Formats: sequence, C-alpha cells, structure tokens
Amino acid sequence: MGFNVAVDGPAGAGKSTIAKAVAKELNLIYVDTGAMYRAIALFMLREGVDLSDRQAIIEKCPRADVTIRYEDGVQVVFLNGENVNAFLRTEEVGETASVISPIPEVRKNMVALQKELAAHSDCIMDGRDIGTCVLPDARLKIYLTASSEVRAKRRYDELAAKGVESDFQKIKADIEERDYRDMHREISPLKKAEDAVIVDTSDMTVDEVIASILKLCRDARQR
Ligand code: C5P
Repeated sequence: MGFNVAVDGPAGAGKSTIAKAVAKELNLIYVDTGAMYRAIALFMLREGVDLSDRQAIIEKCPRADVTIRYEDGVQVVFLNGENVNAFLRTEEVGETASVISPIPEVRKNMVALQKELAAHSDCIMDGRDIGTCVLPDARLKIYLTASSEVRAKRRYDELAAKGVESDFQKIKADIEERDYRDMHREISPLKKAEDAVIVDTSDMTVDEVIASILKLCRDARQR
C-alpha cells in the first residue's frame, strides 16, 4: 500500500474542501466516497424506487454500475456509463444517499472499488467509514468535525452567497437528522477510528484547517 490518508466526519464538516486542497498540494488523488453513494441514490431516484422498500432497493442495486475516472485530477463518477457529476450535489440526492447507504448490498461494491483505488494510488479518501472499515491501515486517519450549529451556518451562508434564501433551523435539523442516521446504523456507522486524530474545525478558518492537516500529512509521510 502507498501513502493513504483517511478522512471521516459528519456532513458539512468541510471534508471535501479540505481533502481537495490537501490532495492538490501533496499530489495525491482525492477520492470522494460520498459521491459514489450519491450516484446509487441518483439511480434509485431516477428509477422511482420507493425508498421505504428495502427489498426494492436491494433488487435494483445490481443495475447501478458505478465507476470512477480521474480527468485532470478531478474525480468523475459514471453511472451506467453516464457522467453524473453535475447531478450529485443536491440536498435530495444527499438525503437519499444517507437513507440507502445502511444497506449492505449498497455498500459492498462501493467499498471494493474504494479499496482498489487506494491500492493503486497515493490518495486522500473521505467518507464515513474510511478509517474504520475501508482503509484500516491508512498511514494517517483524521476525524474532521464541527458543531452542528457551525455546519448549518456554513451551509446557510453558502446558499445565501448563491442568492438562495433558506431556513437556518431547517438546515440544522436536517444536518442533525443525517448525523443521527449515519452514526446509529448497524453497518459501518460513522465513528472515529481509535487511531484517528480529531480536528474540530468549529473555530478554525479553512486555511487554518488545511495548514494543520498538511502538517499531519507531512509528519505521517516521514514516519
Ligand atoms: O459525504 P456525502 O454528504 O457526499 O455523503 C452522502 C451520504 O453517503 C452520507 O450521509 C452517508 O450516509 C453516505 N456515505 C457513507 N459512507 C461513506 C460516504 C458516504 O455511508 N464512506
């Protein structure tokens, strides 16, 4: 195995922003595993599957072929051959990913794909179960977190910057509900790996977080 960094944490903690910047600086591949679960979620939404019908989701799973390619360092997710990157970042797709991701049949192929990507490249991979399950031997494990208040405020500001009005209390409640689901599921729940370093970003700027994680990575590389 090469140099692999695992980053886990709750929704909205800034994992992807930070991992992308660190990947660029250290010449690592950035593997966004949430995007893979989102692609399966998109498939289920497009197929009109009843999301409360676990069996229906399981039966549809084999028809969702998710593959990954890197184009100019950017992860491109293909769903049955179609580049679906543009459809993955909506609230609906994120919510649906969180509803279907506890199902083992949904996770199995994704975890295999993630392990394979890490086996063939130096990477920084973010998700919920990377340090605990996908890359238990990662050279460095980080648990990136922030209070739900701060995460909701960041999301609210992000939407406001795009001119979208939103309800702060609803955003916060949605974040807390997603945290609860991700942390309390039976299979691969979100939790800090025993050997992970906690980075609480509640009172840090993006640049401060990037600097602290770059330092952790550089130290780990020398070990
Ligand atoms: O990180 P992101 O918000 O894109 O993830 C969407 C959902 O996919 C999460 O809420 C979680 O339920 C699921 N997920 C997962 N395991 C991962 C990454 C994401 O179960 N490694």
